[in-house]
Amino acid sequence: MIKDKVVLITGASSGIGAATAMLLAKKGAKLVLGARREEKLQHLVKEIESAGGTAVYQTLDVTDAEANKRIVQFAKDTFGRLDVVFLNAGLMPNSPLSELKTNEWNQMVDVNIKGVLNGIAAVLPTFKAQKSGHVITTSSVAGLKAYPGGAVYGATKWAVRDLMEVLRMESAQENSHIRTATIYPAAIRTELLETITDTESAKGMAAIYDQYQIGPDRVANVVAFAIDQPEDTNVNEFTVGPTDQP
Ligand code: NDP
Repeated sequence: MIKDKVVLITGASSGIGAATAMLLAKKGAKLVLGARREEKLQHLVKEIESAGGTAVYQTLDVTDAEANKRIVQFAKDTFGRLDVVFLNAGLMPNSPLSELKTNEWNQMVDVNIKGVLNGIAAVLPTFKAQKSGHVITTSSVAGLKAYPGGAVYGATKWAVRDLMEVLRMESAQENSHIRTATIYPAAIRTELLETITDTESAKGMAAIYDQYQIGPDRVANVVAFAIDQPEDTNVNEFTVGPTDQP
């Protein structure tokens, strides 16, 4: 059931995070939204409220471990509990390894991997104490299939897959009733390509994405499906992308 669940979303200011917030709010969830761009979060909260939903926000940089703890506490202070965390913040500044864009490599490691770890660390004590909770992450098909230009991005998304699978196993072993789901989107129209600074990689990715039209609402549907399952049922891994994308 989605209705009345308290759901924290990182990377909620645009794309998949924002679309998921809108959908879950329509289905009666109470949303806690985190990202760095405050105006975007303010706008989204207003949009959700004017559609009859409930949402609050707190600015969040997922690379800051303490900020992750603060937003979890904010969710609990505001709504009395936290049921689901959707660790979705990410960026994809692709480039060939030979370009040595080491700052961007580090940025991807910091946001796409450490950001997810910070989120897990912030929420796990609460979920274990409650003996319930749901951790959902946005990996990528790039975490399943390598491609030139996507070495570091793919590595970060592979890492998410691995740590989520272990989280699932350990949670089950510990009988903590924590559900996990990892989502592997393919080409979804969002702001993600804007993070690419390497001209050739930007052109190459744009050429792929220009062929497809599906938006972040399709990923939101999958997140909603995972949450909506009975509490004793863990639907665990999904790919989602355009029908005609090979
Ligand atoms: P967007 O660029 O639209 O969204 C990315 C979100 O991440 C933004 O809300 C941004 O917010 C947030 N973000 C980035 N850095 C940080 C940070 N340090 N702290 C907090 N939030 C941060 O792209 P998508 O919606 O597509 O991306 C969402 C996820 O989906 C990412 O993990 C991406 O890798 C994954 N994905 C997307 C695919 C696609 O085709 N679109 C395919 C496969 C996976 P702000 O800048 O306000 O902080």
